[in-house]
Amino acid sequence: AKELGRNNYQLYNPQMAAPTVQSLSLMSDLRKALDKGEFVVYYQPQIRVPTGELIGVEALLRWNHPTRGMISPAQFIPLAEETGLIIPIGEWVLRTACAQVKAWAEDGYPEMRVAVNLSARQFMRDDLVDVVERALRDTGLKPHLLDLEITESMTMHNVDRAIQILHGLKNLGVMISLDDFGTGYSSLSYLKHFPIHMLKIDQSFVRDITVDPDDAAIANSIIALAHALNLKVIAEGVETEEQLGYLLEQGCQEMQGYLFSPPLPVDRLENLIRFVEKQ
Ligand code: C2E
Ligand code: CA
Ligand code: CA
Ligand code: CA
Repeated sequence: AKELGRNNYQLYNPQMAAPTVQSLSLMSDLRKALDKGEFVVYYQPQIRVPTGELIGVEALLRWNHPTRGMISPAQFIPLAEETGLIIPIGEWVLRTACAQVKAWAEDGYPEMRVAVNLSARQFMRDDLVDVVERALRDTGLKPHLLDLEITESMTMHNVDRAIQILHGLKNLGVMISLDDFGTGYSSLSYLKHFPIHMLKIDQSFVRDITVDPDDAAIANSIIALAHALNLKVIAEGVETEEQLGYLLEQGCQEMQGYLFSPPLPVDRLENLIRFVEKQ
């Protein structure tokens, strides 16, 4: 068994499963997946309501496994974290997403930002700022169009260091969002020290927002907090017109969810944008 010290990363990833025969075989496939070109980035639209304007996309990783088919990131991201493979995989996602959004800009699509999820391991690496800077330089993407999503829990383990990293990223001119906001343990008092741009209301609060007063109260508080701190706010997991109506009423205008579109591969997202533009 690993000693406790080496197991600390589990703090960041409480859902991590104990290794099973299945996960061990997945792990060996995962090592080869990047070289074999089995990863695909899907893009989910982020919409401004009520105009319906496409303001950005979130890059979401998919693994097209040769025998098991499409594997959800919920299954392999924890394995990738555990093995450290998330470092090369995460860098590949970052570069792929930046290159894609730059290509869309050159093809005359409306300007949009791209949100890329960072893992705890990526966030704590000394070279993160260099990696992001290189991705921007090599692809030519304007920094303000890149939105890095981190979670509260990534910052809690060493708050001073997190603030330092966030300032390094901010100095590049990129946006920073706090993903799954409200689900972590972060003290609100840290928030004012974090140079972030946006809070992302977790879908667990959005799901029952129109029926559960507790979820509604939490979502309302996050929106009010964002406004008070001059941060943008976006809701994820918006699936119904009722949720949309409620969020809009509370002053949240940026949304993402199946109501608008699921995450899509490049060609299908392009079709969607062309279709929307014609209307
Ligand atoms: P997340 O960052 O919170 O991403 C949102 C998840 O919600 C995505 O799941 C998305 O497909 C799903 N979703 C979007 N709209 C709706 C909706 O209306 N209803 C519901 N029920 N779900 C919706 P997905 O793509 O399976 O990704 C799961 C998680 O895997 C992500 O959660 C993120 O934590 C992680 N992940 C995905 N791609 C990457 C990546 O490139 N790097 C890292 N480090 N993590 C990633
Ligand atoms: Ca995310
Ligand atoms: Ca999220
Ligand atoms: Ca989530």
